[in-house]
Amino acid sequence: MNYEPNEQGYWGEYGGRFVPETLVAPLDELTSGYFAVRDDPGFHAEFQDLLQNYVGRPSPLYYAKRLSETLGGAKIYLKREDLNHTGAHKINNCIGQILLARRMGKKRIIAETGAGQHGVATATVCALFGLECVVYMGTEDMRRQELNVFRMRLLGAEVRGVDSGSCTLKDAINEALRDWVTNVDTTYYLLGSALGPHPYPLMVRDFQSVIGREARDQIIEKEGRLPDVLVACVGGGSNSIGLFHPFLNDNVRMIGVEAGGRGETLGEHAARFMAAGRVGVLQGTKSYLLQDNDGQIALTHSVSAGLDYASIGPEHAYLHDMNRVEYASANDEDALAAFSTLSETEGIIPALESSHAVAHAIKIAPEMSANDIMIVNLSGRGDKDVNTVQEEFVKRNI
Ligand SMILES: *Cc1c(COP(=O)(O)O)cnc(C)c1O
Repeated sequence: MNYEPNEQGYWGEYGGRFVPETLVAPLDELTSGYFAVRDDPGFHAEFQDLLQNYVGRPSPLYYAKRLSETLGGAKIYLKREDLNHTGAHKINNCIGQILLARRMGKKRIIAETGAGQHGVATATVCALFGLECVVYMGTEDMRRQELNVFRMRLLGAEVRGVDSGSCTLKDAINEALRDWVTNVDTTYYLLGSALGPHPYPLMVRDFQSVIGREARDQIIEKEGRLPDVLVACVGGGSNSIGLFHPFLNDNVRMIGVEAGGRGETLGEHAARFMAAGRVGVLQGTKSYLLQDNDGQIALTHSVSAGLDYASIGPEHAYLHDMNRVEYASANDEDALAAFSTLSETEGIIPALESSHAVAHAIKIAPEMSANDIMIVNLSGRGDKDVNTVQEEFVKRNI
């Protein structure tokens, strides 16, 4: 199987394009722009060159010996996306899309950001190419993520506060879409996860698949065989699909870990595949969603901002229904404990998002044998989270 969406961007019943008429032409232009470079060796050479010399790829595949031995089960390898320039996997996608924007002749880049991580990665690649950058961000998120706002401004981006609705990510997305429709001739909309209308979920997955391609080569070199299981956290779904995709046709078990938050009640978590998850449309794509009985999008909670989202990329919805990928959740407590465990056993402070994947590894590794190999995607580093974790520890008297 090739796991490609059809021409309309559907994986089974998921994906597609649910947008106002005004966005159809810009998305068509983007789709033909992307398909023009998708198999172009010149484009890929440029992409690879920047990944190597600017991002610092390939990221190491590191055998976490002390963690593995402490747990007493599977041999755990960490794919070190935390070592990338800007500290997470998001830069891979931003490099790919900025190169596409240049090919399409766009001089102005817009993006939306929740916690600010995607905004920082976008501002970074705009500085790299001297392109104008406008980042939409809810004013509530700006208040919570003051340091990332400052980072974006240092990088030369304009951060536009959005104070409609709940003043968070979904309101910022609406403003960014409004801007795009108005300025489509000059402007490229750089979306940050494997979400949104076609072709974004496909394009973001393609750019992030460098993670899985490298991991595949690296594990074969180190162990002479494929791993038994892959584990990655799932927000919108980009780091996980990037790791999983190159292994989909192999006999490898895969587990996506969602944010279990404070509990299983709707509103207290961001686990779209838990009982409350239903199929619907959000931000241009059809997928699993957290919604209440009236079809209203539910509030979500997670200690990690990057996993705190009501929907999940459409390819994940498809892989879930086919039972090709398993989905589990780790709650706030599990993630905080994993954050400490990895810091103490390996000297690696993980992002809170990645801590959810580590938490699941900690849970299942002891049930596996010492001959089993697990790869955990360490999607980002935890420097951005130390203040949050400190506050959470104080609350718990840790
Ligand atoms: C944004 C983010 C995530 C979640 O996004 P995905 O698209 O699901 O990968 C996970 N980890 C880190 C470090 C992030 O910054």
